[in-house]
Amino acid sequence: MVQERRKSSNVLLDTALQEFYGAADEMGLNEKLISILSHSERRLEVSVPVEMDDGSVNVFSGYRVQHSTALGPSKGGIRYDPEVDMDECEALAMLMTWKCSLAGIPYGGGKGGISCDPSTMSKKEKERLSRTYGARISPILGKWKDIPAPDMNTSGQEMVWIMDTVSKMREELEPSLLTGKPVSYWGSKGRNEATGRGVATCGLELMKILGKNPSSVTASVQGFGNVGSYTAKTLSDAGVKIVAISDVTGAYYSEHGIDINKAFEVQRSNPKKLLTGFEKVGNCEKIENELFVEAEFLFPCARDGMINRRTAPEIKARYIIEGANGPITPDGDEILAKNGALVVPDFLANSGGVIGSYFEWAQNLQGIFWTEEEYNEKLVRIMKDNFRRVWDYAESKKIRMRRAATMAAIQRVADVVEMRGTFL
Ligand code: GLU
Repeated sequence: MVQERRKSSNVLLDTALQEFYGAADEMGLNEKLISILSHSERRLEVSVPVEMDDGSVNVFSGYRVQHSTALGPSKGGIRYDPEVDMDECEALAMLMTWKCSLAGIPYGGGKGGISCDPSTMSKKEKERLSRTYGARISPILGKWKDIPAPDMNTSGQEMVWIMDTVSKMREELEPSLLTGKPVSYWGSKGRNEATGRGVATCGLELMKILGKNPSSVTASVQGFGNVGSYTAKTLSDAGVKIVAISDVTGAYYSEHGIDINKAFEVQRSNPKKLLTGFEKVGNCEKIENELFVEAEFLFPCARDGMINRRTAPEIKARYIIEGANGPITPDGDEILAKNGALVVPDFLANSGGVIGSYFEWAQNLQGIFWTEEEYNEKLVRIMKDNFRRVWDYAESKKIRMRRAATMAAIQRVADVVEMRGTFL
């Protein structure tokens, strides 16, 4: 009996499922594997009661999804965001399975998060939130089970709280339980910049293939969080003229190129780590939307769904490199393709983060530390190789890069599921 195919009312999950089915059909994957891989292995929901500073108690919903452990322990971030729910975590966990598979690292895919608005919470409230969440998902975490990392609105600080809580519960230090830790506490030099460095490396590699000199290229970068800021910095250091950047405070434009180091200064001196007032010191103007500027390359590094049916027709960039997870909706993708734009998919472009996490985990297991040069050199080499592999595959099959990358990623997982069988 052929199992009915899954659909979801959640846009992100439905997008992930439909892309999976499309790629699976194109590569002729058998129905048994399609059924297995369209479901998550494990989905955990926990309630997270937090005593707020005013003495009241808020009960938040927390999640951790393990889509696949076929290739190894599941791996993926933990995000704090009001939009987080089980479906979103499932979609992002599936994306992590393809990301790790394509990257050639020994992990399956997972994702977790808490539905909350961290911008309204104090540091103490966030600490209590992280520790209780960590304690409640601890039964399914482990260096050989499931290894979280930072994601949207989380950083090394949240990782330390969770690691510390789980280590105390287990009465044993657990440094390889999660990655993206601060350099001062079992982290790796280079990990903080790794995702952005990887995104930029894809952009620079594409320029090389197209025969473009970076110093003659203009780019717009949406989002100035961990991914966007280091994407902009790496591109700018390579000579690319960044004409627009943005964050929740707005979009900033200069046809002469934005001084990214100055943007970092403004952000670091702002208590909320935002670009407030950057137009005054950055010699640039505030504009309506960084997506629509005249720039050849666009790097959407903010959040999912930003390039959609409404915004895609206005985009002038020819080359779009997805720094965020899921920044382009399927109808947005169709419009871009019709307009002749080339898209480098998220799980290839932003895989520098999880590749860097793998380096950190491997070092923690051995109790050794690499130099930053060693880390960056290995990261850039892997990113370039992976980019070229997907590019060549897409060219040879005359298909879009997203489809080529999905097919290559599914193939590795499918081969291992075939070998291991369904008793995973
Ligand atoms: N959150 C990042 C991502 O979506 C990194 C995940 C990890 O390092 O495990 O790829």
